[in-house]
Amino acid sequence: MSNNWKSDLVRAHRWMRHGGYPSVNDGWEKLVTKLVDDISEIVERDNLNEFQVAQVKEKFGTLRFYCYGGTDEIHALIEAAEEESGRICEDCGKPGRLMTGGPWIHTACPDHEGDDR
Ligand SMILES: [Zn+2]
Repeated sequence: MSNNWKSDLVRAHRWMRHGGYPSVNDGWEKLVTKLVDDISEIVERDNLNEFQVAQVKEKFGTLRFYCYGGTDEIHALIEAAEEESGRICEDCGKPGRLMTGGPWIHTACPDHEGDDR
């Protein structure tokens, strides 16, 4: 697992610093990067100086993006990305589905359904 895109994100956005590196696999790089970019535009446009991310991680197979503050617009973006994460393989980024029948719950494409972390 590479941390480069995660450190880039945290370095580029002051409001990401509190949450540290996103605790997700690389398949969600595009999803998380897009979400952060979209939020960033709103944060700058609306001068949301108090806005901070608390934690970004995977839980029960989908993305969790916890933050302090934020607007309805931001929360709607987060909700959409969290939902979308259930259709993107967390390992490789290909279309996947939420696997709930195995020993652990995760979102995976057919290639990664049985892979261990
Ligand atoms: Zn995959």
